[in-house]
Amino acid sequence: MPSEYKFIVDTMLGDLARWLRILGYDTVYSRIYSDREVLELAFLGGRVLITRDGGLHRKAVKMGVKSVLVESTIIEERLAEASVKLGIDLIVNPEKSRCPECNGVLERVEDKSLVKDRVPPNALNSYDVFYLCVKCGKAYWEGSHWRNIRKVIDEARRLAEEYRKAYRPRKIKSKKGFGGGAFKDKNAPSNVGADTEAGKQA
Ligand SMILES: [Zn+2]
Repeated sequence: MPSEYKFIVDTMLGDLARWLRILGYDTVYSRIYSDREVLELAFLGGRVLITRDGGLHRKAVKMGVKSVLVESTIIEERLAEASVKLGIDLIVNPEKSRCPECNGVLERVEDKSLVKDRVPPNALNSYDVFYLCVKCGKAYWEGSHWRNIRKVIDEARRLAEEYRKAYRPRKIKSKKGFGGGAFKDKNAPSNVGADTEAGKQA
């Protein structure tokens, strides 16, 4: 089921990683991963790769890793594109969000004493519900920034509707000798879950 997806996002799509976490998707991202590490983490962790790098995408597909190329450059378009290609739900629910900083699970907190050292006094007075990252300890609340979050997601949803009407999967020609095996596993089943056009041709 699309909503059960876990992702790994390549180093060029850090903003998308943060937004996927806000949407509640378990998303791994680091600026210091090499291509090989990204492929290993995707393969071993059963994660879908989201990338801007055509070469990395083709390597992933060859390994049987489900991979999706996202080509847009602005965040609303990136989210819409990912939504159309992967069935990502563009619905923000803070109860389901993960920490955009570290991908940690957020815990709902109503006892203000638990967050008083992590939240500015005016926010502590104005809000009754907070969300605490169990991993990095960062606290969140539905402040004014939340309106911007909803605005971006609403725009992404509108674009996704447009794309759904117009989107046709593009064929990617597989090149001979490409993908020289950054990470090869003899036991890897071929093309498991690789349902992209490139996967069909590989
Ligand atoms: Zn965190």
